[in-house]
Amino acid sequence: MSTKSLMQLTHHPRVALVTGAGRGIGKAIAERLASHGHTVICVSKSETCVAVANDIIAKGLKAKAIQVDVSDAAAVAKACEQINAEFGAVEILINNAGITRDKLVMAMSEQDWNDVISTNLSSAFFWVKGLVRPMTKKRWGRIISISSVTGVQGNAGQANYAAAKAGLHGLTMTLARELAGRNITANAVAPGFITTDMTGELSEEIKQKILGVIPLGRFGTTTDIAAMVDFLASEEGGYITGQVFSVDGGMAI
Ligand code: NAP
Repeated sequence: MSTKSLMQLTHHPRVALVTGAGRGIGKAIAERLASHGHTVICVSKSETCVAVANDIIAKGLKAKAIQVDVSDAAAVAKACEQINAEFGAVEILINNAGITRDKLVMAMSEQDWNDVISTNLSSAFFWVKGLVRPMTKKRWGRIISISSVTGVQGNAGQANYAAAKAGLHGLTMTLARELAGRNITANAVAPGFITTDMTGELSEEIKQKILGVIPLGRFGTTTDIAAMVDFLASEEGGYITGQVFSVDGGMAI
């Protein structure tokens, strides 16, 4: 008997929403979820989500693009109203959109702090608030937030980002407790260094330094993260809640 068939995950078609689906990790997650037959609502700030949704549709799968600034509470609330009216309920919510504004605390402005907290942390609260009520009525749900190794162990130059990501862990544990009775799980995935536009901005010197502290000796791929999200979103992931999963090549050991 092949071991592959034993490992196959069960996915019943659902409505999923992925923030930051226009590029990088979010794009890989959106494509992966769509491949299971889920209808994937792709969210990004610019038009990148439109191309991703169109590519998914071109493969005969289901997607929709919504361009919205996730740090804007009113805009997210409006988008959620439209989504709930059109789809009934989102059952899989992936809070992935994120930015960095790296500086040492002494040089970090209030704007740097607020931009990162609102985009990486408050946004997750806005989406949960807008989508959770219909999700509870379905008695099935998955809320998965993409945090970071920085939220697990901190990182010089990233006070705003570390606080936002660690905040996602607190939000996740609380949602897990509040929503367990409705069969909704909440988990976080904490990537290490993943090759995307976000890390592409770093100098070669910094990249080599980071490579030196990754026990598995390579940078991660967007597929490494999508695979963990895939498992948590599947039926088989249904008994796991309130957890933070490091997918970082051993960085946070
Ligand atoms: P990325 O390549 O820079 O893509 C970020 C995505 O988020 C883009 O689609 C972007 O939209 C969207 N986004 C940013 N601000 C937004 C806003 N205000 N409203 C709506 N969408 C917004 O980033 P990535 O590397 O894939 O990272 C994805 C997530 O993983 C982030 O939360 C990041 O913190 C986390 N993470 C990444 C790494 C890594 O090594 N790459 C490590 C740990 C954690 P546009 O396309 O329109 O710009």
